[in-house]
Parts: sequence; structure tokens; C-alpha cells
Amino acid sequence: MNAHQIYAKDYIGRVLGTHDLRGVEIPADLLQKVFSALTRQEEIITLDRDEWGNFDCQHSQAFRAGNHQRAWLDEMIIQAFPLIERKSIWPNNKPFALCLTHDTDELGLHVHYSKLKREFTRVQDPNFARRFLKGFISAGTHLARSVNAAAKPETLRIEEWLKLEDKYGFKSTFHIFPQYVNNRHAWDCDYRYADKVVYQQQLVPFATVMREVHKSGWEIGVHGSYESAFNADLLLAQKHQIEDVIKAEVISTRQHYLHFAAQTTPSVQVQAGLKADSTLGFNRNIGFRAGASFPFRMWDHKNQVALDLLQIPMHIMDVSLFREDTLKLDEASAIAHAVQLLDHVCALGGCLTLNWHTQLLHVPHMRRVYETLLDEAARRGAWGCSMGEILAWVKRNYVSV
Ligand SMILES: [Zn+2]
Repeated sequence: MNAHQIYAKDYIGRVLGTHDLRGVEIPADLLQKVFSALTRQEEIITLDRDEWGNFDCQHSQAFRAGNHQRAWLDEMIIQAFPLIERKSIWPNNKPFALCLTHDTDELGLHVHYSKLKREFTRVQDPNFARRFLKGFISAGTHLARSVNAAAKPETLRIEEWLKLEDKYGFKSTFHIFPQYVNNRHAWDCDYRYADKVVYQQQLVPFATVMREVHKSGWEIGVHGSYESAFNADLLLAQKHQIEDVIKAEVISTRQHYLHFAAQTTPSVQVQAGLKADSTLGFNRNIGFRAGASFPFRMWDHKNQVALDLLQIPMHIMDVSLFREDTLKLDEASAIAHAVQLLDHVCALGGCLTLNWHTQLLHVPHMRRVYETLLDEAARRGAWGCSMGEILAWVKRNYVSV
């Protein structure tokens, strides 16, 4: 077997629930298809990109074939081995995993005030007027949205996320944006860890919340800035900013805007010392970008070796269900679609990964869909977990990731 085939075989073993495939003949064309899907060859071949510079659902072969909402790669593998009795690969033989993640793009109204104050200090900046206006509009939008949601506008509500997940015995990963960004891009987030947020009815610096979340056993990951997808030094410095606050190693990541290139980003993440990524998902749809529901190792295209980086593909993001430029579903259809994916992954025994933005819990329909998914997953016996927990489990119990 060559390196490509060994890499593909590792994933086939995970889907089948066994790493012992001795004596099992694996067709060469299946190995090739698995390698090609996981290493995202189609993203290298096609030059189609959206306005954020990303390969997205509409550019994929699976979208054209109408099966992007199925884990088509896993199905292909399972169908190829009808005689192998598949076993759960999750703790306590749980039927499937539900990986919970939260990208933190905004902190709340107090932070918008701090941001506006910061903009004032940049009055010499040639873009001052544009930036200030942008800050003013985003503060106004946030206030309107919060008032609309009949919620206290200043409330970030991280503790409510913890309470909600803890009710089911689940944990999650909060991806935090770096507070200082060299090469700042117009689409980057802008908050500081000294910015004040409400936590347990107190106004405290966000750094305190980060430490509390980490101490409670939830995971803090890094939400790498737009340009960090191509710059290891930048991503490493961003990871360090978070580690300095929580005084612990950060191992999980997701790139902001899912900005990602198959040939570059995984190696950049490894060079930055990261061990698990969950960037492979869609911005404008839900489903399976690599056709995979199980985690898999990323591939170094330059050196042609498997990387010490576990991809935990993302399948459902909150905004992809509702936003004008996405699926634009109402609440009932969003729940129906999402539960369909959940049932699909439960039947495959894989891992369904959700991304609900930290700052959107106060939006009632966003919260209800998330809560319904936790509820439905718990009823099906899911292992609700963070990215770090998945990595530790796969590493300890299965393959040499
Ligand atoms: Zn983001």
C-alpha cells in the first residue's frame, strides 16, 4: 500500500468501527475516492470561490449531485463492506457523537461602546470616518436585535450556554477571536479581553469569563483571524494570546469565515501547534463538505504525509439555516432539516458537529433550534462533547492520530 492508500484505510477503519482490517480486501478505487474526498482534491482543482474567498457548498460536486446533505463518503464505505459488523467507536458504545462548538465573533453591547471609544483614538487613520460609521451601525444593529429579542442587550449569556449543555451532561468548545491582530482584515472581529461583559449578573472583563469557562471544564479554542489561515506566525501569536489568559494550552481551532485552503491551512495550523480543526463546513448550507461524518486526519499536500491534526468536520451552523443569503428557513423547517441530519449521522454512528455563535443565544429561534437539537440528540443517546474530548478519545482509543 502506498501512503495515500494507508491514509484512506485509516478512515475506512474508523467508519467500520474497527482498526483491524487484516484479510479484508479494500478495492483500490475506493481507497482513491476516500483519499480524494478527505484531502479535498476538488477544492484544489476548481478555482470557484465565493466573495469571502472560500470554496463553499455551491461549488461542490456533491451539491451538483444533490447529495451534500448526506455523508456520501461514509455511505459509500459502508455499502462496500456489507459483511462487516460495524461497532460504535464512541465512549460507552454511545450510538453517535454530537460535537458542540461556538464561534465568538461579538461580545455584546458594552463591547460596541468600547469599540467606538477605540475608534475615536484612531482619528488620524485615513479610514476613520468609515470605521467609526461601521462601528456605530454595528452597535445600533446589535441594540435593535437585542431589544427585538426582548433580551437585556448587554447580556452575552455564556453561563446560559453552560447551563443548557450541562442539563444534558454535554460540554462544548468556545472559539475565541484574538484581541490583537497583525494584518487585520476588514472582516475580522474586534474585541478585547478587557472589554466588559455581563457574567452571572456582574459586569466583568471578558478574560474573567474565559477563565471561568475553562475552569468549568468547557474548552476554549482559537478562532483564527481571516489572514491567519495562511500565516503560521500569525496563528501561533493568536493562540498564545488566549493561552496567556486561560493559562492552559489551546489545541482546537476554527478559522473565521471558514477561510481555508486545503494545500495550506492544515499545515499552518500544525505549525501553530494546534491539534484539532473544525473549519471544513459550509457557510451557506448545511451538510458534509468532505462527505464525512467521522473525524479524520488532515493531509499535508506539500510533503505528502498525514498531519498530526484531526479534522472534526462542521455540519450545521446557525446562520446557514436562517440568513437571507443562505437557506433562509423558518424555525420549523430549520428544526426538521437539522433533525434529519442528526438522524442520518446517528444511523451511521458518526459525529454531527454544530456551530452556534456565542453571541446569538439571546435570539429566541436560534436558541430554540439549538435546544431542540440537544434534546433530540440526548434522546437518541448521543455523546455530547467538545472538540478536545473527541481528540482525546480518538487518540487514546483508536488510531495513532
Ligand atoms: Zn467567525
